[in-house]
Amino acid sequence: MSRAKTDNVAQSKYFIPTTRAEMQARRWDELDVLFVSGDAYVDHPSFGVPLLARVLEAKGWRVGIIAQPDWNDPAAFQVMGSPRLCVAISSGAMDSMVNHYTAAKKVRNDDAYTPGGRAGKRPNRAIIAYTAAVKGALKGVPVIIGGIEASLRRLAHYDYWSNKVRRSILVDSKADLLLYGMGEKALLEVVTQLDSGRRIEALTRVPGTAWLSPVALSGEQLPAFSALEHDRAAYAAAFAQVQRSGQQRLVQEYAGRYLVVNPPAPALKQQELDDIYALPFTRRPHPAYTETIPAFEQIRWSVTSHRGCQGGCAFCAISAHQGRLVQSRTPESVVAEVERIANDPEFNGTITDVGGPTANMYATSVRDLTRCQRCERESCLYPRICSNLDLDDTHAVALLRRLRNIGGVKHVYVASGIRFDLLAHQPGYRQELLHHHIGGLLKVAPEALSPGLLKHMRKPAPELFETFLHQFYATQRQLGRRCGVVPYLMAGHPGSTLGDMLNTALVLRRNHLKVEQVQEFTPTPGTLATCMYYTGIDPLRGENVAVCRDPHERRLQKALLLAHQPAQHKLVREALRRLGREDLFQQVSGTAERSGSAPSAKVRAGKRKKGKGRNPRR
Ligand code: SF4
Repeated sequence: MSRAKTDNVAQSKYFIPTTRAEMQARRWDELDVLFVSGDAYVDHPSFGVPLLARVLEAKGWRVGIIAQPDWNDPAAFQVMGSPRLCVAISSGAMDSMVNHYTAAKKVRNDDAYTPGGRAGKRPNRAIIAYTAAVKGALKGVPVIIGGIEASLRRLAHYDYWSNKVRRSILVDSKADLLLYGMGEKALLEVVTQLDSGRRIEALTRVPGTAWLSPVALSGEQLPAFSALEHDRAAYAAAFAQVQRSGQQRLVQEYAGRYLVVNPPAPALKQQELDDIYALPFTRRPHPAYTETIPAFEQIRWSVTSHRGCQGGCAFCAISAHQGRLVQSRTPESVVAEVERIANDPEFNGTITDVGGPTANMYATSVRDLTRCQRCERESCLYPRICSNLDLDDTHAVALLRRLRNIGGVKHVYVASGIRFDLLAHQPGYRQELLHHHIGGLLKVAPEALSPGLLKHMRKPAPELFETFLHQFYATQRQLGRRCGVVPYLMAGHPGSTLGDMLNTALVLRRNHLKVEQVQEFTPTPGTLATCMYYTGIDPLRGENVAVCRDPHERRLQKALLLAHQPAQHKLVREALRRLGREDLFQQVSGTAERSGSAPSAKVRAGKRKKGKGRNPRR
């Protein structure tokens, strides 16, 4: 063995094994569970596959990870032999099609979850390709699929890239079982049962899983795939049916077979969540990698304080995947993790983020859980904040104070997104944030500032954004700080018209805000907005929704939000001409301001990069 290889094996004893040599170093002749991932192996709790592998390892199972194997080479899947219990497959932190293509369906030439940021290390429709490869290379081993790609494609779903309704990914992949949601509880239960000698076909009642039955079963009966494959109205009705089905078992027919989606797994208890984040993650990529992994560089010194999101924004896959109930770690658990980071010899003193899908939901709770279990609302925050939510910010404030007083920690930043409508009810958190925890810019995501469109997005009204701005600047003055606001905006969402973008541009201008980047809506699998995009119907309201599918009009929408950029002026003039409002050119483009008539805050929007999130499990 070469010197470099020997060093790698020595260092890798702290990692989950990825090769036969690393298994042998642990004196293992066989694995119990083999994970296959579309991402590089980064041993950090923000990465789903390593987290699940650590959870199983902590219970005594022998687990291995094959990261980004060549899906055309059976040998790549055989490096650690056949596992005793099962193979668990994930596309990685992102759906592979979202990872590979832009909103305009252009091929991306980078991949934040791969060494060197290079594209091409995972297949399109990774779950299907990996399952086929594993079934060929490791014959007879049960195959379980999970992660965001499997989770959000578990039922018949519209696929933007093939522009058609596809079958459940369990049917298309021919895997034996599908896990949806965050997965820890379902995976532990499945592996426990397999280890007790039960066959995979017998695992029909595990919460948080989906399976194929040869016979019809009782449960909430969804329209058969054949009935909604070409019928948009039926598809929209089925989407609404799923949203309103609560905790029921769902059944959907596929040519004489029946997809059965069991009710979701129960949320992790606080202690269970704490236990996961106390596992021995090295917070480093596997030592075999010689190049940096962009997503890792971004989240290396970040800490997840909670999961789940109450927002229910129509376009968001996070709340669809993580669930609406916020699950928070104890302050002691978060403090212990930051203390471990502070003791890392490579730590530079800055915690880059403490948060979750929405930072200011940490330790918020519900007053009456039984109300939530009966609830049919689409969002806890839209159209108004639910009276059952307890938005007490004292725990979050106390946590931030404890974290910044840990020895070796110079800065603790909150880089996760903030819900500004919640912040209005959290004066203590707002003050703490502004005083100590933002590096000059606060990221908020109004997404648009036009009432008609916000209704389709399930986002708060523009007045609430302006109220937030006034409170923000008042707190700043009180603290003697100067910070900016970064509004994240989206063009091309279902319901979005040129008029909505003009309204948004005018609110921006009125508040002296400029953005440098605008996200284009991508119809990702499984979201409410994707259903609207495909069907032209808001399925939960039964209303028709205008959908902008013309790429040029999408460009015009974007241009109105970026109207201060001279490169956009031609498109801005065209958009205003179409609206019959050419008189507003100077106002929306700010050319009047540049000639000296109005002040302009130097607020620059951050770039929403692919894989930018502090939490790649989103
Ligand atoms: S009752 Fe309120 S807090 Fe609970 S799920 Fe419904 S909207 Fe959310």
